Amino acid sequence: MKTDKKNWLHLDLKGIVPEAGCFLDKWLPFIKASGFNGLVLEYDCRIPWKTWPKAGYPVYTHEDVRKINAAGQSCGLEMIPLIQTQGHLEWVLQNAEYQHLRENGSLRELCPLHPESLPYILSWIDEVAGLHPGAKYIHLGSDETWDLATCPRCREHQDPRGKMGIYLDHVGAACRHAIELGLVPIIWGDMFWRENAPELISELPTEVILCDWDYHSTQNPGHEILLTNSTHRIIGASGLRCGTPGTLDYSFKCQAALEPRRANIRAWQDAGVDLLHTVWGRPNNHRPLYPPWFATGNLFALAGGNPEFSSEAEKTGIPEQCRRWQQLAERFQTFSDEYDTFTKVKLAFAASASHIGVPQASISEEFNKILHENRMKVLDWCEEVRTFFRDNAISDVEEFICERTAFFSINSADGHLCTGCRFKK
Ligand SMILES: [Zn+2]
Ligand SMILES: [Zn+2]
Repeated sequence: MKTDKKNWLHLDLKGIVPEAGCFLDKWLPFIKASGFNGLVLEYDCRIPWKTWPKAGYPVYTHEDVRKINAAGQSCGLEMIPLIQTQGHLEWVLQNAEYQHLRENGSLRELCPLHPESLPYILSWIDEVAGLHPGAKYIHLGSDETWDLATCPRCREHQDPRGKMGIYLDHVGAACRHAIELGLVPIIWGDMFWRENAPELISELPTEVILCDWDYHSTQNPGHEILLTNSTHRIIGASGLRCGTPGTLDYSFKCQAALEPRRANIRAWQDAGVDLLHTVWGRPNNHRPLYPPWFATGNLFALAGGNPEFSSEAEKTGIPEQCRRWQQLAERFQTFSDEYDTFTKVKLAFAASASHIGVPQASISEEFNKILHENRMKVLDWCEEVRTFFRDNAISDVEEFICERTAFFSINSADGHLCTGCRFKK
């Protein structure tokens, strides 16, 4: 797609991620070949941050980030770092070292009025900006501050703008700091529509870009109060991969339904605005992993502006691995459905037996055999998943296996099918 418009991809690195070498050699060329002109990297817990010692699950070194940034820029991608500045800091605040910064005890959110909070955030902005020489933009998160102004300190704070005053002071200070570093700040725009406070947008520095995320609309996506504001630029954001309202099926599936995702991407493309296509790694830090990026398959192509994978994209080898993942996901669905059926049938037979006097032992024997066969399929699948993760140098295989097969291991004598949980008691 030839366009002056921003057509950026967002990758949330708290999920399953490739090793740095694979990121450089395969994913960057694939992202470029798919048609994107910018890449937003949400680092989250994946770097051993100097700002937050002892927190997170690092995969990339500072040097890796510098290399990825430089390689992305040299292939023509706008490279944009993303860090959160108020909410969604579960991976920091879960640690005892930082619990004094929690908003009203919440694991997910900083208290913006705690005297240490802003200094931490400003020093983190310095640290991440230092890893992105040549960057023009920085995304500072700032969405979903559900616990805003709930602690005693924030509740007592008097502000004519109400609790959004606290948000604006904190987020505004982070944005101004980025501007001083020569960066254009971007933030998610949802707090302005959640609090129905469009007039407060004008309190942000004029440079700030608001990112209007709407992952579920299939026509006219976005929020009126953001799209019609006259003071700030807007980027629309689609959901290539995200949770589905009203279901929690992301917690165990290997492949989410793609059609709602396609419809949302197309709706945003029809809107003709600058776009950021988001690929979430987990619903949040304290929820199970989404499947690897391969499961998102040719949504990358669609969002990049192509109906199918381009021949340039095929050359990277990623599309082939997407098709391989598809097969693993289909097999998972088969034995998962079989397991559901067998366990329900077994319970029905047992109920029937208590009415007609069939010995329970004969039912157990019959079904244990079926469940054993089912179990063999699951174990084979786990081994193939391990091979897939190894071949593609992607992270967190044991957690992924453990989450997907938890329904199965609940009835197995030896428990989890992973080789060992990180925090198992
Ligand atoms: Zn507070
Ligand atoms: Zn486990």
